Amino acid sequence: MVETKMLTVVNPTTGETIREVPQHSSDDVKKAFEAAKEAQKSWAKQDVSERIEILDRFGKLLVEKHESLAEILTDEMGKPLQQSKSEIRATKIRVDFFTENCKSLIAEELVFEDPKHRMQEGITHEPLGVIANISAWNYPYFIGANVYVPALLTGNAVLYKASEFTVLSGLEMEALLKEAGLPDHLFQTIVGDGAIGAEILEQPIDGVFFTGSFATGSKIASAAASKMIKVQLELGGKDPIYVCDDVDYQVAAEGIAEGAFYNSGQSCCAVERIYVHESICDDFIEEFCDLIESYSVGDPKEDKTLIGPLTRKEQLDVLEDQVQDALDKGAKLVLGTGKRLDRPGNYFDPTVLANVDHSMKIMREESFGPVVGIQSVASDEDATRLMSDTEYGLTAGVYCNSGTRAEVILNQINCGTVYWNCCDRVSTRLPWSGRGHSGVGLTLSKAGITCFTKPKAWHWRSPD
Ligand code: NAD
Repeated sequence: MVETKMLTVVNPTTGETIREVPQHSSDDVKKAFEAAKEAQKSWAKQDVSERIEILDRFGKLLVEKHESLAEILTDEMGKPLQQSKSEIRATKIRVDFFTENCKSLIAEELVFEDPKHRMQEGITHEPLGVIANISAWNYPYFIGANVYVPALLTGNAVLYKASEFTVLSGLEMEALLKEAGLPDHLFQTIVGDGAIGAEILEQPIDGVFFTGSFATGSKIASAAASKMIKVQLELGGKDPIYVCDDVDYQVAAEGIAEGAFYNSGQSCCAVERIYVHESICDDFIEEFCDLIESYSVGDPKEDKTLIGPLTRKEQLDVLEDQVQDALDKGAKLVLGTGKRLDRPGNYFDPTVLANVDHSMKIMREESFGPVVGIQSVASDEDATRLMSDTEYGLTAGVYCNSGTRAEVILNQINCGTVYWNCCDRVSTRLPWSGRGHSGVGLTLSKAGITCFTKPKAWHWRSPD
């Protein structure tokens, strides 16, 4: 008899084990795929209105149960409870967007008619089939729903590879979809680590939608290359913000502090590099550090907590190394110690560095934690050059009083999303996409629904 491997779910706040969950084996993955393949055939034929009804119910259940779901999320990944609650509640907004727009977007279209030659041209939208949704842990409800909700609505079945760090939430999502009336096997949460994720790619799946690091995204792209299937990768970022000389630096500091430290800095679009015009740089740094200092670090279950533990213990080493590398090259600590906190759990002391430059890892490699570097710049040209000096291309922003000035700068940055006087923001209505090492493809917006379908072009000539 083969022994079932267990996945240990650890609470990052305490370091204690929450639960042991049975991992799937490669045989389980194969069976899950076969069951999904079978279930998808009738799901695709079902009227879209019926699919919409089920996903609508799922959205309502998310809100109804958000308090208990948030407790689970906070326990397993350490996100401050208030932030867990708002993520789950706000996921309904995304579900609503998808259910409201799906029907018209996948309706059959007649695009040309020539009665003289009895000719018609039309387009239909077919589901891809069985897709893999391989997901990250930092916003599991958002980034999961961005994929599986439109995928299910458009008639696909989903193998959902929950992150090993948020597997309990992944299992809750499956239970909720079932409760909403989703037929069996259309959404299956696959439990395990990266090796089990790789097993999904061994199956004859029809598409892979991945959210995670550039390193894993590259492996997924290679594994999928010869399959000739749809591959979408939403990867990391090193997102810059430039604060111009004409702004109210206090207002800018407030927006950027939240953008850098929300979710304890573990957001793909968190502000990770700050460039400030030299004429206001000292004032900005002082204001920025005062704000971060006022953020309460502690138990994520307490209402006042804004910064909790990091989800992955290993990231503490990464952050300490980035800070030490910067200090060795001449950076200055203006807030924090740049080290883990001496307490149980994966806590890192919120840290701000000044006198940084692009020779330092802190300005080049994704940090994904409560640490940020601030670099003084002499001009817009200087800022634009530095903002562009990256392999990533997720978001970039400018704080300034002139929209034209912001536009000139942001037009030069090669990234999927740009912000004027705001940051760290995602809209359901807009495409969410990365360039370069931040990925390929998109989710959200209307295009984030149709990307789960394949168009079929119809040429019709009726008989005399
Ligand atoms: P990760 O790459 O370590 O893991 C992501 C998922 O891939 C997990 O479920 C993991 O088990 C699985 N996996 C690992 N190896 C695999 C393999 N060989 N084959 C198949 N699956 C495999 O990333 P993470 O730590 O979970 O997430 C953090 C990263 O995600 C950060 O870089 C962050 O910026 C990025 N992210 C990007 C977005 C975006 O929208 N662009 C959103 C959220 C997170």
